[in-house]
Amino acid sequence: MSAMDIHQQVPLKNYTTMRLGGSAAYFAEAHTAEDVATLHRTANAQHLPIFVLGGGSNTIVRDEGFAGLIVHIKILGFEVLADDIYSMTIKIGAGENWDKVVERTVVSNLSGIEALSAIPGTAGGAPVQNIGAYGQELADTLVSLEAYDTTTSQIVTLQNADCQFAYRSSIFREAETGRYIITSITLKLSKNLPNPPFYEALQRYFDERKVTIFTQQVVRDAVIDIRRDKLPNPIEFPNAGSFFKNAIIEDWQLHDLKKQYPDAPSYEMSDGRFKIPTGWLIEQTGFKGQVLHGMRIHDKNALVLINHEATGYADLAAARQEIVDAVYGKFRIPIEQEPLEL
Ligand SMILES: Cc1cc2nc3c(=O)[nH]c(=O)nc-3n(C[C@H](O)[C@H](O)[C@H](O)COP(=O)(O)OP(=O)(O)OC[C@H]3O[C@@H](n4cnc5c(N)ncnc54)[C@H](O)[C@@H]3O)c2cc1C
Repeated sequence: MSAMDIHQQVPLKNYTTMRLGGSAAYFAEAHTAEDVATLHRTANAQHLPIFVLGGGSNTIVRDEGFAGLIVHIKILGFEVLADDIYSMTIKIGAGENWDKVVERTVVSNLSGIEALSAIPGTAGGAPVQNIGAYGQELADTLVSLEAYDTTTSQIVTLQNADCQFAYRSSIFREAETGRYIITSITLKLSKNLPNPPFYEALQRYFDERKVTIFTQQVVRDAVIDIRRDKLPNPIEFPNAGSFFKNAIIEDWQLHDLKKQYPDAPSYEMSDGRFKIPTGWLIEQTGFKGQVLHGMRIHDKNALVLINHEATGYADLAAARQEIVDAVYGKFRIPIEQEPLEL
């Protein structure tokens, strides 16, 4: 890796789907795990912090930008490690486009990630928040992953259990932020057909259309169709998908909420707590469809903030504060941002 491959003062709005914020002092692409190691050594020698970027679909850049080295992951690869009558195990390069990976597995009649269709970003970005949609999450099929460990400068293999996956969470987002640079992921996918009943919105879609034969492709097409309406294409409308995580509340909080709002939607989780759709909470504040500080609250899905004409991160932060305060003021429920900040 020569110094020529390291670019300077690169505007990060061109590499993130929210399309705002400042520049990176240094920026380089990593095409192999060896490139990752070399870039890490180079940054260390200059005492520069590193930030790993995949598709930039879950990253918000502040106006001051980043005074370190961005490592843009471009590692490709799609390798079958095991194949039997029940399943196939595949190792995927971290820089592969996630939806292309899903498409490829669906065409091969493999089940397990078809409901994760049309999620932007890279395969290496997927474990970071344990991507989830329509009843599937990455943790269901991920066997292990390979990563460059910046504390030991070694390539390590982490098993599923090591990743501490939870709802939109993992070791990469929480306990060990920034420590591991994921270079590949390994998934074990089933050769069985997808089975009903499906996740509520998906099942409703099938019922309305009287669909009774389910293949991976049928599920993928349905998910793409449902998402088209609810999630604006970031190329036309810059956004980072769900801008807030769903709220998780205790039993007693749900009790209080239902007393005042008997129609409040809630989903019981396996740990006895309840998930409340934050889109619903925001909707009740009356912000849906409005523009706050140049950020539009999507009129079809209040969880999504679109960069309509924000002048920078400061506008986004002001809009976020108004929304968080309004939800807290009405429900006494704190809501949390989903995309990570650089
Ligand atoms: C329109 C839209 C719809 C979306 N829908 C969903 C959805 O349904 N479900 C869902 O869960 N998410 C969704 N998202 C969020 C986002 O697409 C996912 O979180 C995606 O996995 C992010 O991948 P990325 O490569 O773009 O990550 P980036 O934004 O590049 O990075 C996100 C974080 O992961 C880290 N990271 C990225 N790559 C690596 C790597 N190789 N090694 C270590 N760390 C890394 C970064 O440092 C950063 O902290 C949506 C986003 C958009 C714009």
